[in-house]
Amino acid sequence: MSFAGKKKSADLAFYRTKMLLDHLSSKKGFHTELISLYIPHDRKLSDVTNHLKNEISESQNIKSKLTRKNVLDSISTLLGQLKNIKDVPENGLVMFSGAIPQSNTPGTEKNELYIVNPPERVKTFRYHCASEFLLWPLEEMLKPKETYGLIVIGRKESAVGYLRGNHVEVVRDFTSGIHGKHRAGGQSQKRFERLIEEGEKRFYRRISEEVSKLFLEMEELSGIFIGGPGPSKEKFVNDESLDYRLRDQILDVVDIGYGGVEGIRALIDKIKDKIEDVKYIREKQVMNLFLKEISNDSGLAAYGLEEVQKALNYGAVDKLILSEKLDTYQLSLKCNNCGYEELRTAREQELNNTLSTIQEESCPQCSSNSFNILEQSTIIEKLGEIAETTGADVEIISSETEEGEMLYSTFGGIVAILRYKQNY
Ligand SMILES: [Zn+2]
Repeated sequence: MSFAGKKKSADLAFYRTKMLLDHLSSKKGFHTELISLYIPHDRKLSDVTNHLKNEISESQNIKSKLTRKNVLDSISTLLGQLKNIKDVPENGLVMFSGAIPQSNTPGTEKNELYIVNPPERVKTFRYHCASEFLLWPLEEMLKPKETYGLIVIGRKESAVGYLRGNHVEVVRDFTSGIHGKHRAGGQSQKRFERLIEEGEKRFYRRISEEVSKLFLEMEELSGIFIGGPGPSKEKFVNDESLDYRLRDQILDVVDIGYGGVEGIRALIDKIKDKIEDVKYIREKQVMNLFLKEISNDSGLAAYGLEEVQKALNYGAVDKLILSEKLDTYQLSLKCNNCGYEELRTAREQELNNTLSTIQEESCPQCSSNSFNILEQSTIIEKLGEIAETTGADVEIISSETEEGEMLYSTFGGIVAILRYKQNY
């Protein structure tokens, strides 16, 4: 059996970062002593080390003895970790180190260290020391990044821009110079109309040229919306001067009250709902792949924790599809005395209860008290990890669509499409 090798899933990277941010946002130090370090890919590790050494000498000035000790500990922890790293990963590296209070009493702090492979590139080097970790650059990475091209076509004025997440950028505006009010003396009406038409065509081609330059280079272009008052926008589309690859990306052509730059806002207002739809269309498509296997009875569909986990462990999963509503943890239990092992699950709200029950249990096989929790992780994390090592795709899907809701309620939030039929 050959695996495609370790495969990184964007959905999974986002999920992990989200979970970690939830966890870190509750961490607060007694003083300015929690350190956040953001390292871009191209930053030399020796520079980072020098920066930290410099911070060590700076922190000698901290008046409170305890705070000084905590800051120095945190920096030393980071320096120690950096020694083990050879190269900064492709997206850079984010590290958090700080003295986290274990109760309300100063002096109970324990150093906690978190190392994150960020889901997107770290752009700016940051060293930040405060009573909380600096989380917003990571939070920023989780915001939606789909990019939509925006083209507003008016007969006199046009504009081109794009929408990325919540950010709108107007890249260029164009003026046609067509007035069309007064016919020069001596011109026939027909000739006049022809000149106007030619002028319009030239105008559209000029826009198409710019649009092609701009949009063909965009990596994450999810589609293009075109708007404008009157029939100009249709003329622009029908002119076919726009690159065919971009013409394929046109999601809709809508009527708005303005041409030019003012039209960009109006266009966004008009397409808001459709953009939401695009995200869900992808999720629907993924779920429909699975449902097709079910209805064809192809033997390539698996569902439920047990069946899917088994298939994953055999390396038989091509695509793992999980509901983002899943809040189940999987606990690995092991007896240190006789080696007995067991897997259990618990929903998030009952996790603490389950954990304390297990602490009181003795081993079902040898009755010793050495029955312990070996590992605890969310189902998404657990299955995602196996998927990554066996080269399966991971899709984490919302429950906003009918298909997504069906994934959760009918199939328990865990399904998979298999590479080949399984005979267990
Ligand atoms: Zn035992």
